[in-house]
Amino acid sequence: MRLISVAVPVPYLEPLTYNVPDRWPDLPPVGARVRVPVGSRTVVGCVVGHDASPAPASGAKDVVGVLDKEPFLPADVVALCRWVADYYLAGVGDAIGVAMPPGSRRASAFKTRRVVAATSHGLSVLAGAGVTPKQRAVLEALAAVPVGLPASALRDRGVRSDVVRRLASQGLVVIRAEADERDPFERSVLAHVAHDGSRALSDEQESALSRLDALADTRAFHVALLHGVTGSGKTEIYLRLAGRVCRQGRQVLLMVPEIALTPSVAGLFRSAFGARVAIQHSALSDGERHDQWQRIRRGEVDVVVGTRSAVFAPLAHPGLIVVDEEHDTSYKQDEAPRYHGRDVAIVRAQSAGALVVLGSATPSMETYQNALAGKYTRLTLERRVLDRQLATVRLVNMRDEYADAGPDVVISRALAAAIEERLSRREQVVILLNRRGYATAVFCRQCGDTFECPNCSISLTVHRKGSGWKARCHYCNYAVDVPKSCRKCAAPYLEHAGFGTEKIEQQIIERFPGARVGRVDRDSMRRKGALAAVLSKFATGGIDVLVGTQMIAKGHDFPRVTLVGVISADVGLGLADFRAAERTFQLLTQVAGRAGRGEQAGEAIVQTLYPEHYSIQVACRQDYQAFFERELVYRRSMRYPPTVGLINTLVRGRTLQEAMQTAAAVVRGLQPAAAQAPFSILGPAPAPLVKLRGEHRVQFFLKGSRRAAMRQALRDALARMPEVRRKVTVDVDPLNVL
Ligand code: ADP
Ligand code: ZN
Repeated sequence: MRLISVAVPVPYLEPLTYNVPDRWPDLPPVGARVRVPVGSRTVVGCVVGHDASPAPASGAKDVVGVLDKEPFLPADVVALCRWVADYYLAGVGDAIGVAMPPGSRRASAFKTRRVVAATSHGLSVLAGAGVTPKQRAVLEALAAVPVGLPASALRDRGVRSDVVRRLASQGLVVIRAEADERDPFERSVLAHVAHDGSRALSDEQESALSRLDALADTRAFHVALLHGVTGSGKTEIYLRLAGRVCRQGRQVLLMVPEIALTPSVAGLFRSAFGARVAIQHSALSDGERHDQWQRIRRGEVDVVVGTRSAVFAPLAHPGLIVVDEEHDTSYKQDEAPRYHGRDVAIVRAQSAGALVVLGSATPSMETYQNALAGKYTRLTLERRVLDRQLATVRLVNMRDEYADAGPDVVISRALAAAIEERLSRREQVVILLNRRGYATAVFCRQCGDTFECPNCSISLTVHRKGSGWKARCHYCNYAVDVPKSCRKCAAPYLEHAGFGTEKIEQQIIERFPGARVGRVDRDSMRRKGALAAVLSKFATGGIDVLVGTQMIAKGHDFPRVTLVGVISADVGLGLADFRAAERTFQLLTQVAGRAGRGEQAGEAIVQTLYPEHYSIQVACRQDYQAFFERELVYRRSMRYPPTVGLINTLVRGRTLQEAMQTAAAVVRGLQPAAAQAPFSILGPAPAPLVKLRGEHRVQFFLKGSRRAAMRQALRDALARMPEVRRKVTVDVDPLNVL
């Protein structure tokens, strides 16, 4: 038997063992795709090892097809996926799935083009005689690029197609069809951004860069935290450091939290590095992602700019991984595998001997603690570039506002006056409300009937739809038209409660008739390219007031914005989440950081019901240190991360009782290990969102400093209960416990 272990696209599964029949004399290498039987189906899997785990008693099944002779996924990416599966308690197939470009597990459905690659026979004849000079030139070019060159690229080098055909007929090269190249930069890059490489760095930038240069030159694994206030010029440092690493012959991965941020950063890197930049994020079409992935794999790319999954990009020698806005929660994937892009980046850099730069104005508690402990080098930028001032922050106590101006006030008098002033000076305004929709609920004033989601324990959000209203669940997308009169009592008094971005947009349009208003949230950005279009319009002055959710809070650099208004600073504070204060502090600091980035000074006006809450107070002073110290005391006293490790386990059932019983059984299985390690088990208890998409949910937490023992205990307990595995979601290092 010649056994290999294969990751198959089936949730939660460990690698399966297969036999490679003799008709394939060479074992497919780690990273190659193979067709294998699973149950009654045949699937495309990925070879993850030759160390095959013991074959099943019934004997290993045969591989039925080998798709690649060379690794499709690089071996180090396969190893990274195995680490992810192990650490986050996911199936190895789930992890491999994130690293694979779309479409790689089915026959290609993309427009194709021809790619020419040298065969091993072709490479061996290179050493001897017997080929014509023209043929030799082609083989030499191909020898440098194992995955092959497009036929069109050879044509561009003056190679005639009959030369290639002759080589193919002699078995010296192969010609294969491959998805065609599309350039997603066409629509995703903001055209106005261009990198000015000649300007002088500030003293702070200069000294941070020289420290980072020295770290990059060691070519050894290292993590640095670049802790720089908003507008301190971190991007400029990334660009210059990236140039240095590329000149060393290594590649750069730049991770950004949101697709919203990719266009401008990608544009900057494109203007600095030309076509050797690829982008990777989920808003690209499958075909585009596939093409970009292939370019990276072929070694045609020096810099990859992308969101979380770009951490798996098939770069051969990554020398620098930048995680911009490292504190951002979008780095955590909220479906299996539930990995954190920043943490996976650090693991990848460790095995690649690369430098990691974590950039943020508001580092996560975890990262800052590591920096204080000396595990990471901390570099600070305390001032904005060109001596620009940080925005001043003014708090508006909304309780006073309600008392004076009535309970329906959404935009305070102070904020309205400030908007008016900016509009008259032709400056720009950003308005943040971290809640989309028009209203947060509808109810009948006569009988009190409300519109709840039938599948989830949550009230439906009201959206404007033409001249009427639609109520929609933000979790399962269930939607109904809001009728003119109550469904229960027929009274015509249906009322809206609460407000979201759609209502703010409408109020601004009504109160400032001349203003050009744009909105950015998940509802307005469904269409492909819509986001880049709005941001581009804002950047070029076609919009005066931009209203949006946290999508507009971070990263962007719009020099003409001099006012940022925060409608409800406390949206997040009511949540039963131990990270609520941290989130609020980060969001306020980031959004205030959008103001005053140009010549004029900026101001932020923050409306809140809790002006005395410490996360709001320290955000106003933009005092990170004070926030961190205060928050750490709280985390320590409550035993929350980063002072301990945490795992959230969610159990689903058809009824609450069923879910409780299943969860209790898993907890019983954990108790011996919990006593020994030790670690604590909290729960099971109904989850805050107790019903979701028709299922009932119960959760329990593992908490303690023996992190590896906690993971192992849970893995063992679940392995002993395979019948419940599908009902259980494990979240290691959860960011969101709701
Ligand atoms: P951060 O990411 O730290 O918030 P950015 O990198 O976006 O800050 O920089 C803020 C602004 O300052 C950008 O418009 C950038 O082009 C500009 N900038 C950065 N470095 C310099 C410099 N040395 N001289 C002049 N302008 C700079
Ligand atoms: Zn729902």
